[in-house]
Amino acid sequence: MRVVVDRTRCIGSGQCVMTDPEVFDQDEDEGLVVLRTPEPPESARERMRAAVALCPSAAIRLEE
Ligand code: SF4
Repeated sequence: MRVVVDRTRCIGSGQCVMTDPEVFDQDEDEGLVVLRTPEPPESARERMRAAVALCPSAAIRLEE
């Protein structure tokens, strides 16, 4: 599983960070998403699905 983020779509709302702070962070300048763990463990799958669903700007997607 690979997580892909599109910083050009991100609006810095922070839901992804609240969903899994091991995988997502926000930069200090603009608050845009920073991907800390591009290939999270299988145990994080449900949280990754939640992050995709909760992102208000559709900036997160999963690849297998
Ligand atoms: S939830 Fe989406 S819009 Fe909000 S910080 Fe994360 S990637 Fe950006």
